[in-house]
Amino acid sequence: MIAVITCPLCNVDSKMSLLEDNFSGVLLCWKCKAKLSLEIKDRQVTKVETISDEEFTEQLELDKLKKKFQKSENE
Ligand SMILES: [Zn+2]
Repeated sequence: MIAVITCPLCNVDSKMSLLEDNFSGVLLCWKCKAKLSLEIKDRQVTKVETISDEEFTEQLELDKLKKKFQKSENE
């Protein structure tokens, strides 16, 4: 699916392709470079929030850890 996320700061739409119906993570607005935290449930965007640089970095690290964890689970 393609999710469309509207930046709360500049109102520009970002498109994001998702493999699953549910997603939570971060996104960088392509236009104003705002850091956004988002949540998608059942293909509906339920949350879009601007976050600080620190939160953004933290979230990216968490995502990496999650991916690592999922990978090792499947092995
Ligand atoms: Zn923006």
